[in-house]
Amino acid sequence: MIQKIKGTMDIFPEEAGTFQYLERVMREEAARYGFGEIRTPTIEWTDLFVRGVGDTTDVVQKEMYTFADRDENRSICLRPEGTSSVVRALIENGKCGDTMPQKYYYIINCFRHEKPQAGRSREFFQFGTEMFGSDSPMADATAIALAASVLRRIGLRSVRLHLNSIGCRNCRPSYRAALVDYFTGHRDELCDTCRTRLEKNPLRLLDCKNPPCAALAAKAPRTVDHLCPDCRAHFDTLCRTLDAMGISYTVDPAIVRGLDYYTRTVFEFIAEGIGAQSTVCGGGRYDGLVSSLGGADLSGIGFGMGITRVILAMQAEGISAPEAEVPALYIAALGEEAAVAAMAITERLRRAGHVVECDVVGRSLKAQMKYANKLRAAYTLILGGDEVASGKAQLRNMADGSQREVTLADFTL
Ligand code: ATP
Ligand code: MG
Repeated sequence: MIQKIKGTMDIFPEEAGTFQYLERVMREEAARYGFGEIRTPTIEWTDLFVRGVGDTTDVVQKEMYTFADRDENRSICLRPEGTSSVVRALIENGKCGDTMPQKYYYIINCFRHEKPQAGRSREFFQFGTEMFGSDSPMADATAIALAASVLRRIGLRSVRLHLNSIGCRNCRPSYRAALVDYFTGHRDELCDTCRTRLEKNPLRLLDCKNPPCAALAAKAPRTVDHLCPDCRAHFDTLCRTLDAMGISYTVDPAIVRGLDYYTRTVFEFIAEGIGAQSTVCGGGRYDGLVSSLGGADLSGIGFGMGITRVILAMQAEGISAPEAEVPALYIAALGEEAAVAAMAITERLRRAGHVVECDVVGRSLKAQMKYANKLRAAYTLILGGDEVASGKAQLRNMADGSQREVTLADFTL
């Protein structure tokens, strides 16, 4: 018996219905906020993420699924995230010179070789958005409002927006120095990876999941205390704008995000009550990314929302997706002649756009009626030899038991 790969999932219609509902809400909200869909490949050259996400991040160091391309002797990987691909597509297709802002969204599968657990899988699904070409905090507010709007429409009440600014190139050196100073004082308490990070990328020390490192990180210097005047003003305007838009948030200095490309605004929507993997949506500004991947000096802001984590949050709050459409009609048939007639009517009504079912496994009439009840069909029609011969049958309303005679050849629902 071959089993699925660890950390992947099989999704059957019932749960797929929840995915479809969420995807519909995401697409509709994205359209309201003026974001158009972009589709990029599942595979990319590994270098894209090494440069985009950053070579000292966990994603690049430990989590990518990479393999050699058969004929180019170059490393390919399954995308671990969406932003780098969108930026590559933007540059490659000459969109950097187009009218700004450019607003894109996507619903994709991503792959990361992480330890599978509740809310963390190796293939996962993400709704993501990217907006390019605006430095203004109004762009940040638009992205945040879109994420908030999706979560609000789903009805989630336990999800809170945590907001922070991690500054830019100008504020980074002073902050970096303060961090190095602080963590050097605690060098012996750090894990091996963090000791390397201390030299290579001290900001990454802030998102180590090791409890001793995390405890130290909690007391580390805060980015918000090291912002340059421009970043300070940007963050203040963003906060004021969100206030005016009626979007509540908590300024949370602990939000730093796990990927290297972020600048200034970073944010997470965190659900209470779904366990350790509680970030349903994470995002931020990435002003240096487009140019670092070879494009124009374009700023960007985006987020990724984990679809399975949204589902966990829904479950924790007892929210379910709208139910799937039940059949309008179940046609029960007795004998082969009637079964053929039932198939013909079913097909005619399906072509007219109705959800109709009939027997395809050869059940007894009694079992067919039981099945019709299970399907919660609104109407039933019973066909026997007499009905086929006369071309007429009784259409039964299952809600009130009332019946009316219909002509089999042309009745509609
Ligand atoms: P986390 O802090 O949970 O590790 P992250 O910072 O690695 O998340 P991003 O790269 O920003 O996550 O991805 C955006 C969103 O995608 C996350 O907020 C989360 O909802 C979801 N996500 C990330 N990794 C996984 C995973 N392995 N399984 C399921 N969902 C995930
Ligand atoms: Mg992660």
